[in-house]
This record gives sequence, structure tokens and C-alpha cells, in this order.
Amino acid sequence: MRLPRRPTLPARSVRALALTAAATTLLSAWACQPKAETPETADLILRGGRVVTVDPRIPEAEAVAIRGDRIVSVGSEADIEAFRGDETEVIELDGRLAIPGFIEGHGHLLGLGTARLQLDLMPTTSYQDLIDLVEEAVAAAEPGDWIVGRGWHQSKWDPVPDPAVRGFQTHDALSAVSPENPVLLRHASGHASFANALAMELAGVTAETVDPPGGEIIQDASGQPTGIFVETAANLVASAYTASRESMTTEELEEEAMRSLLLAQEEAFSKGVTSFQDAGVDVETVELYRQAIDEGKLKLRVWAMLSARLPDLAELLPTLRVVDYGGHRLTVRAIKAYADGALGSRGAWLLDPYEDDPGTTGHNTVPLEDIAAVVRLALQHEYQVGTHAIGDRANQAVLDLYAAAFAELPDGPEDLRFRVEHSQILHPFDVPRFADLGVVAAMQGIHAISDGPWTPDRLGEQRTLERAYQFRDLIDAGVTVMNGTDVPVEDIDPIPSYFGTVVGRMNNGEVLNPDQLMTRMEGLEAYTINAAYGAHEEFSKGSLTPGKLADVVVLSQDILEVPDDQILSTRVDVTIVGGEVVYRREGS
Ligand SMILES: [Zn+2]
Repeated sequence: MRLPRRPTLPARSVRALALTAAATTLLSAWACQPKAETPETADLILRGGRVVTVDPRIPEAEAVAIRGDRIVSVGSEADIEAFRGDETEVIELDGRLAIPGFIEGHGHLLGLGTARLQLDLMPTTSYQDLIDLVEEAVAAAEPGDWIVGRGWHQSKWDPVPDPAVRGFQTHDALSAVSPENPVLLRHASGHASFANALAMELAGVTAETVDPPGGEIIQDASGQPTGIFVETAANLVASAYTASRESMTTEELEEEAMRSLLLAQEEAFSKGVTSFQDAGVDVETVELYRQAIDEGKLKLRVWAMLSARLPDLAELLPTLRVVDYGGHRLTVRAIKAYADGALGSRGAWLLDPYEDDPGTTGHNTVPLEDIAAVVRLALQHEYQVGTHAIGDRANQAVLDLYAAAFAELPDGPEDLRFRVEHSQILHPFDVPRFADLGVVAAMQGIHAISDGPWTPDRLGEQRTLERAYQFRDLIDAGVTVMNGTDVPVEDIDPIPSYFGTVVGRMNNGEVLNPDQLMTRMEGLEAYTINAAYGAHEEFSKGSLTPGKLADVVVLSQDILEVPDDQILSTRVDVTIVGGEVVYRREGS
């Protein structure tokens, strides 16, 4: 782990002033820590388990005392017992593990919320399951509201749908449970959609509608559409849905955004995520977050990066900048830039051609001089920059342009903590350059598992071993490596992503890059203190240290000790944000 550095105080540095304020709070909290004989009482105590603080000064304890939104003490059962008063709430850990709340290092909060607004049909095991889920959604909706979902797959269903046309279910049962709500449900493959009668009516689809080029409307024996739209035919119904959204008022859209934000928060808390680093937001989203905080609805701590794609960025930076708004709920002082695409679609920008398509090295998606301009703007306005870079060439180019900008600073790059988002494929030459430049690698352990099985197809075996997901080499070089999930690309659940960094076993049973794994403790640091460091927030969070925010997670089992193959069965039992229990697993 890179130990949190002492705050530096370069002149004119607003960021440093913010850090100083945080450090002062921390110091005063230390200073007024109660003496043993006259302890102040705690509001909440966690006791009777293993407390891993991720603070090397007191790495382990048996209990934690919390007052207000802060941790006041960690120590033995006896130490903490002294903080118990008549009103103190006590959570018995019963041998379970308490750790700092997980910090999602790179995700898209509203993307998660929007996904949650849609029906998740992935778990359906029969057509009746799908019908039941839609019926539930109808009961919760207003007549006329669209019900959209995704993830059904008829070949996973038992029994097979009956009646069926070409193996697909027909819309009759669906239309029966949803006569007043148009329904549009995307197939798991994304290559077909399933609509009910009302959705087809709104889309103007009848028995007479002809198939569009590259698509098919599946019909029954009498020529009636069955509700299944293949490939481009799905656009017929999708455009009716899009049109319905165009008529939504600003108020309705705002209300939907708020609903989606709160669903995202609920999901984050249920997975033990207490802070969320949002990778690329617009002005409206920052406004939404402020409003949700002002209304007391947003308790998740959000650190949001403004998208470099926003027009008039230069004017926005000073006006949108905010640090620790609403009791450490919102910070905006970073920009998300973009250098290349993704590996799966061969958009990642590589130094050498793709193994499975030697004609291409991928793409630089935003001209480098434009990224350099964003970097200059950021330095001018005391913002961090996190640049999306997946391929080794993109990573190199981003480090080059960071280095060029830092070289012009009178004080050098000290403590700027610019980031590379993803840092998936790195030329060995560039690994130590992250450390030299003080650049943080914001990686996603889960990708090493989910994308791992086909990574060697793109890169070849040798290049994969030398360059993909170089967790170990980066850490050994002194680089701060953080973890996250890129939700909604992946589930926000930190446990599988932690597993990806410390065990790395893929669904095919293999480990992509066994020499590059982290230790269990490093894996935990990547999800806590290192992620806090990557946001200049290690003075207020990332470890269970007296004076820091009381963001704590209780896990059902000890992810630092259980055998490899048990890690994934770990559940989040309790999530605490600022001393408030925001999630408790049923039955835990
Ligand atoms: Zn992302």
C-alpha cells in the first residue's frame, strides 16, 4: 500500500486547502479522543468480531465505537465497552468481519439506476416467470407507462413455451397481464425483442407490416405478429418507446432520474458500497445529486468526474467545483477524459496489431491534443483528470501527455494524483512511469475474470502474460492501484471484483495471469484506502481510523482468511454510512 502522504501546501492550491481542512478535522478528532477514565458515550458500537481497519497503525481490533458520523475509537472489547451508554446501539459481530465501506473506484451511478428501472429477466426459468415479473411491474405502474426489460432467453426455459412459433413464445399471455401498459423486453442476446399487443399497436405493427431490411417480424400460422421482433425489426417497437419518452415533461424526466438514483443507491448499499466514484457526469446529474442531498435522500458518498465531452467545460469547471458537499456526500473536482475504446470490440488502442485481426491496432477515439487541452484546463482549475485508456498504446500516450503537462509545472506533479481509468494493457516500460508521475491506476478486477477468457484471442498468449492486468507489477513499482466494477458494465458487487484481483479464477477454471495477483490485504486496500487516495479523500475515509467517517461494512465471513473457493459466497450483512445503518441483510 502507498501510505497516505502528508498534505502538501503549494501556494494558491484550493485542493490543498481542502485537504488541510480534512486533516484538521482528523487531528482535532484525535486530540479530543476521550481519556479512558472519562469516555464520552458512543451512539453505535460494533463488537465481538474481527475488525480489519486498513490502517497500519492499528491494523486489527475487536470492536469499534462510533459517535455522530465519525469513528471515535477502535480497540479491544474492553476498550470499547467504556464507550457504551444507556442509549448506545450495539451490533454484535458474532465473529464476523468488519471492514471500511467499499469504495467503488469507477462506475456509472445513473447507468446502474437506469438498469434497475428495467425488469431484469435474466433469472427467469420459464415463460410463466416472465409473465409474473411483468404482472408485478404492471401493478406498480400507471396505465400507459412503458414496461421495459431485458435478459430473457427462451432456450433457458423449462418447460419450453407453449404455444410457440419457431421456438419463441407468443404475446397472448403477456398481453393478458398488461392490457394498459406497453411492454418491450429485450432478448439476452440483444438480437431480438418481445412486445405485447399495446406496444405493437403504438408502433403501428399489424399483420400487414412488412419486414424491414435485416429484420423479421415473426408471425403465427394466420399471419398475425407473435410479438417477437428479430434484429432490425426490433427498432419498430423501440422507436415507439423512444417517441413516448420525447413527450415526457422535464418534471417527469427529473422524477425518473431521481427514482433511478435512489435505486442505484439502494443497490450500492446492499453490496457494501458506501462511496461511489462516478466516471463521467453532466451538469444535470450534478444538479440531481445536489438536490438529492439537500432533500436528505442521497446518503451514498459520490465523487463525480465531469465528462470532458461537455461543451463549455472551461466555464463549468469553476462553477461546478464542490468538495465534501452536504457532509462529505458530493465532491466534483475531476474530469473524465477518453483515449480509446474497449478490447472486446477491438477498439482498445494497441502498440502492436491485434492477434486475431492483424490489420488493426484499434483506435484513438479523441485526438491527443484535445486530451492535452483538457489536462491543461484541469491543472488551471485544480481538477484531477482520469483518462479512459485500455490499450497499451493509449496508456503510453496518456502518460506521455500527463508527463508533458507536469513538466511545465513549477512544483512538478507532486500529489496531483491524475488517474488512468482501466489501465488494462500496459507495456512493461510504462509500469514504473505511473509511479514516477504519481499516476493512479483505476482498474477493475472483475474484467480480468469476465473478459479474461477471450483476452488471449485479442492479444495472444505471450502479450497477455506480459501486459494484461498487471496488478502485481504496478504495486511492486509503487503505484496506487484501485479497484471497481465499471457498473453497469458489470455488477456493482465488490466481492467478485476483489476475487478477480486476489484469486482471478475465471469461469473456465483458469487464471488469466497468475503472477499478477494481489495479496488478500492488497485487494482490500485497492477497494478502500487506495480508492480514497485516488480521490484525495484518504484523510476522511478508506480506513477505520478514529476521526474518519464511520463508513463500515460487516461481511458474513472473513474474506482475508477463507479458502479461495469460498470468497464468492461472502454476503454483505450490514452497511453503515456516517454512523447510520443503511442496509441490513434479511436474516443476518
Ligand atoms: Zn466506465
